[in-house]
Amino acid sequence: LRAHYAAQRNLPPVTKDGERIMVMVNAGLRDDVAALAATGADGIGLFRTEFQFLVSATLPRRESQTRLYRSVLEAAGDKPVVFRTVDVGGDKQLPYLDGGDEREENPAMGWRALRLALDRGALMKAQARALVEAAAGRELDIMFPMVSEPWEFDEAKALVEAQRAWLAERKKMVPRAVRYGCMLEVPALAETLDLLLPKLDFVSIGTNDLTQFLFAADRSNPRLAERYDWLSPAILRFLRRVVAQCDAAGVRVGVCGEMGGRTLEALALIGIGLKRLSITPAAVGPVKAMIRSLDRGAAMAELDRLLAAPPPNLRAALADFAERQGV
Ligand code: PEP
Ligand code: MG
Repeated sequence: LRAHYAAQRNLPPVTKDGERIMVMVNAGLRDDVAALAATGADGIGLFRTEFQFLVSATLPRRESQTRLYRSVLEAAGDKPVVFRTVDVGGDKQLPYLDGGDEREENPAMGWRALRLALDRGALMKAQARALVEAAAGRELDIMFPMVSEPWEFDEAKALVEAQRAWLAERKKMVPRAVRYGCMLEVPALAETLDLLLPKLDFVSIGTNDLTQFLFAADRSNPRLAERYDWLSPAILRFLRRVVAQCDAAGVRVGVCGEMGGRTLEALALIGIGLKRLSITPAAVGPVKAMIRSLDRGAAMAELDRLLAAPPPNLRAALADFAERQGV
């Protein structure tokens, strides 16, 4: 089966009715970039920069961050890479960070990601400089994790812009363009998204965190793992609303959570209007194959119907649709 997908890796993921879906991969290590060639993915839609911090016994020096980001960009060649600034804290503790080993009652909702990065300005500043230096002469896509309110995005962007200005003043080479995005993982952000959209180049929906917050269900608790389905009316309606809002504002929007890596879930995401998925490399083959056998118009009509009056088992109804479609 793997050989089958490998043989098809260069076939573009276009639906039967002609919509090109962007299928990118999630990555975190330098070696993950090899997945681009192996799968024929369109780029790296989520580069989790915290991996380098997590495997290191001490705070990675700025120079070594720059080296990593540069080598990732070089290895990716013409394909885009979206760097996400550090998402540490919570359950990804950094003992070497001041305050980084404090225990929290609810780490997923705690002092993590951008919250921590803005409080530890030196850390964020060093990372911002590393990213801007690494992308000198190229285009740079940066996004911030766990943004809950628009001011957090503003502060984070200002930090990166300050580094760009600092380098430019010194006549150092800077990126040709920097595009800023925001992860949507905290439901509250959806309520103020209209205020943020004019400032954004893209939105990336992190369905792993988003679903645990929408359902108030810990994603790491095995007792709850099977309880709430990604294919639920609550999640799909929520996502559909966000996607429509981004589309109306002309801001590109994608999903980078694990949800998009499951074939039936990916079908549902396309059916509510998504055209960009960033998924685990192993899922690229099956998801692309699904896309090529899918009629997007039919999927959208089906999702409209199912979400207007959801049946008791939405997953079963979608599986049924997939089978009728021959996907
Ligand atoms: C997410 O929350 O969906 C996401 C992509 O981020 P992470 O899984 O790294 O928390
Ligand atoms: Mg997340």
